[in-house]
Amino acid sequence: MLNEEQLELQQLAHDFAETELRPHTSSWDEQRALGDEVFEKLAESGFLGMLIPEEHGGLGFEPATYLAVLEELAWGDAAVALSVAIHNGPVVAILMGHGTDDQKARWLPLMATGEVLGAFALSEPDAGSDASSISTTARLDGDTWVLDGTKRWVTNGARAGLVVVFARTEEDGLGAFLVPTDTDGYSVGDREKTLGLRASETVSLSLNDVRLPAGALVGQAGQGLRYALEVLDLGRIGIAMQATGIGRAAIEHAATYALERQQFGTPIARFGALQAKLADAAQRVSGGRALALHAAERWSHGVGNGTRRGSDGLTVRAAIAKLAASEAASFASDEAIQIFGGYGYMRHYPVERLLRDAKGTEIYEGTNEILRRVIAGEILRDAGDETL
Ligand SMILES: Cc1cc2nc3c(=O)[nH]c(=O)nc-3n(C[C@H](O)[C@H](O)[C@H](O)COP(=O)(O)OP(=O)(O)OC[C@H]3O[C@@H](n4cnc5c(N)ncnc54)[C@H](O)[C@@H]3O)c2cc1C
Repeated sequence: MLNEEQLELQQLAHDFAETELRPHTSSWDEQRALGDEVFEKLAESGFLGMLIPEEHGGLGFEPATYLAVLEELAWGDAAVALSVAIHNGPVVAILMGHGTDDQKARWLPLMATGEVLGAFALSEPDAGSDASSISTTARLDGDTWVLDGTKRWVTNGARAGLVVVFARTEEDGLGAFLVPTDTDGYSVGDREKTLGLRASETVSLSLNDVRLPAGALVGQAGQGLRYALEVLDLGRIGIAMQATGIGRAAIEHAATYALERQQFGTPIARFGALQAKLADAAQRVSGGRALALHAAERWSHGVGNGTRRGSDGLTVRAAIAKLAASEAASFASDEAIQIFGGYGYMRHYPVERLLRDAKGTEIYEGTNEILRRVIAGEILRDAGDETL
């Protein structure tokens, strides 16, 4: 349950989404770009510093407040919400969980004001679900880290000022590196033409002899995969809320249309078959939201203190939340198209975009197959399976 202050912040986010996002969503999708202006407005509203503590210039929100705001932003525009979720989620979390005081002092105030947007670069052309197999390398040359490799499908990649890059270190594990995007040897490839979330930046990154000071390494060399999985637990809860915003928007559009559209001399909303679609979609979307908030209860205790594992731990709760919410968003937007009939299939109406956007939430930050594997693995481990 949100308290009064949290409800007020949620309402502020809703008003922002209604006035600053909704009027532009369709043209952003068509143009495949978000303008600079929306990032300036997000920054002015504090939405780029939601999980950054006040001592570093952020708003220091509770996870539940952040999630409530994120749902509203996604209700307004899913590409904006994805950008905000990556910046506030895994990028801030790795700095907060494992960054030194100097790293936090350097980056968090810039991220809180929106001067620097964050990105998270784990995936590679040949390494997606199996992040342990990445081939980008980081070697020490004296006190300098030298990074070489290619990253793929990095959200915020072109606009970012800071990218957390995962690379294989000589300890034969992964390291997490803070890479300022103005570093020599760092370059951004063409934007991908995506099915949905077309306004979101999805780019590849090249690292050619990128030289970084020793202080660019987060935590310990060799521990990067552990850190990545930890912060992806938090990231997945954010994506669950992004999906919830998409699903809710689909239900609302479908309900409004069903009340307006007349067939057989009556609004189509009077037909039980369509009411059942609205009810089933609402049940799934509400379930996804509740699971995200349930997972968030473990959040503040989550990073690095043993509450991640087990079938009631953060990892499994976050996986269940993203699995349920992403499938709910796809279901709700698919049913919304059906309620719109032929109009739903047309680009002029918003529901086809919502289905395209929803599909992405089933893939990034862990595909739904991987999430099912995570969930089943924890259940079987609890039941005594030691092979997992
Ligand atoms: C819009 C978008 C934005 C993204 N943003 C980022 C980002 O900011 N940073 C970043 O690092 N990455 C990002 N990604 C990449 C994303 O995280 C990967 O696409 C995802 O992890 C899956 O990896 P893959 O695409 O290589 O698929 P693969 O791992 O090749 O999987 C292909 C298929 O095999 C299945 N599969 C794989 N292994 C198993 C298994 N063990 N059991 C069962 N099924 C399995 C998968 O579920 C999938 O269905 C983004 C992707 C998209 C689409």
